[in-house]
Amino acid sequence: MSGILYIVATPIGNLKDMTLRSLEILESVDWIGCEDTRHSRPLLQHYAINKPLISVHDHNEQARAEQLLIKLQAGENGALISDAGTPLISDPGYVLVKYLREHAIEVVPLPGPSAIICALSAAGMATDRFSFEGFLPAKTQKKVNVLQNVITEPRTMVFYESPHRIMATLATMVEVFGEERKVTVAKELTKQFERFITGSLQFIVAELTEHSDWVRGEFVIIVSGYQAPKVEAVEFEPLMLLLIEQGLPVKQISEIVAKHHGVKKKLVYQMVLDRQK
Ligand code: SAM
Repeated sequence: MSGILYIVATPIGNLKDMTLRSLEILESVDWIGCEDTRHSRPLLQHYAINKPLISVHDHNEQARAEQLLIKLQAGENGALISDAGTPLISDPGYVLVKYLREHAIEVVPLPGPSAIICALSAAGMATDRFSFEGFLPAKTQKKVNVLQNVITEPRTMVFYESPHRIMATLATMVEVFGEERKVTVAKELTKQFERFITGSLQFIVAELTEHSDWVRGEFVIIVSGYQAPKVEAVEFEPLMLLLIEQGLPVKQISEIVAKHHGVKKKLVYQMVLDRQK
């Protein structure tokens, strides 16, 4: 009988955010795969968990997957954790999980902290539909290219960012999305200096420039989705009046104006009727 690989989420700051089930599983497995053994040891020591640690990171994941498959096929149970939060979410693990599933190994998730959900749950930004964008490329031009592809994305977008890049990234966002796009920056979630800053991109940049000590720690940037600007009645009124003057039927006027200005036919129809009263 093959063993099971458990994917275990760990705290993103506050050590108490460890679930009872995760602790139970970490205590029961034969080994724990982790990104950086030096990073994970303090957490495991805090919970008096003493298991062999096996490094699984971006540079050795395929080779490790092959080694861990042999262990699991021999009946050992293992767990995968990352430095913080949920493995595979901007963290290693995808290559391993895919490979193990392809070899019919059972992979069991143990849910827990993840910065994306943590930030969204308290930001007050729309959560009905969102897209996770992860980290943007470091180089400005590449960043611009990625952001340009999502200018009209209607869903809320969530980005991860480090303190070294947050100001440059916000500046690029201003350039691409414009100063008025609404954003929440969530920093140091679950930690002592946790903070949510919400407002236009222009406001956020001004706040972080004024309070340079806030530009420390870890960040989630939540950008509101694109909303097509409402066309004001005044914008289509000249065309509408011209068509009324020419004596066109109401239905035809509303169709032409709707097509030209991207507004609802019903709205134009009503306005023409109001004029003719
Ligand atoms: N696997 C993690 C998760 O589930 O959220 C993400 C790991 S990724 C390498 C690290 C990034 O996640 C940070 O640069 C930051 O953008 C975000 N992050 C992690 N912990 C955070 C925290 N406590 N507060 C704000 N953002 C955090």
